[in-house]
Amino acid sequence: VQLFSADREVKGLIFDMDSTLYENPDYAADQLDSQIRVLALRWQRNVDTLRKEVYRRQAEWTSSHGGRKPSFGNLLLDSYGISIEESVKLREEAIEPERWLGRDEKLVSVFQRIRPDIEKVLLTNNPSSIARRSLRILGVDNFFSKVVGLDTTLVSKPHAKAFIMALDKLGVGPQYVLSIGDRWEVDIEPALALGMGGILVESIEDTYCLADFLAKS
Ligand SMILES: [Mg+2]
Repeated sequence: VQLFSADREVKGLIFDMDSTLYENPDYAADQLDSQIRVLALRWQRNVDTLRKEVYRRQAEWTSSHGGRKPSFGNLLLDSYGISIEESVKLREEAIEPERWLGRDEKLVSVFQRIRPDIEKVLLTNNPSSIARRSLRILGVDNFFSKVVGLDTTLVSKPHAKAFIMALDKLGVGPQYVLSIGDRWEVDIEPALALGMGGILVESIEDTYCLADFLAKS
């Protein structure tokens, strides 16, 4: 775990979902691949050819953006002209958290130990319906007062607007907020730029320690 300006009075937390509240590399990969499969059907293209093309374009995007990896939504937008609204529908059609996730008692106990007066918002590049379903499956839905999804923001993290909307839902200033996620460039860096602190989790084991970190801060 890596902490960034995390030593502060905390009134609100912004959580990432994927690879932060659960760890499932096969599901993470399938979230992208299931979208490619739906697009291949829709465009009547061979799925293997399309998959190779998408990954080639992703590599091209990365090398033309100083080594940064695009969010999948931004890649579809830049390379295929798929609007964010269309991405929302595509994801709702393709992604099936029920197939991949289950209740996580360890995660539930972490949330039971984080002070209830600290507001928690989930901020995800997936549609909020997918996020709510995932939170319910994991068993932590009742801890999140708000979910801010791609359908709310219409921009993908790391766009600042996504974080500003999440802050709005928390209703407190950035100086009282920590952003918690597994990707520095997507979850942490843009939050720090707005004056929040950050906790970079490197595995689900880090997430299981969050209640202890927050109790110390
Ligand atoms: Mg993530």
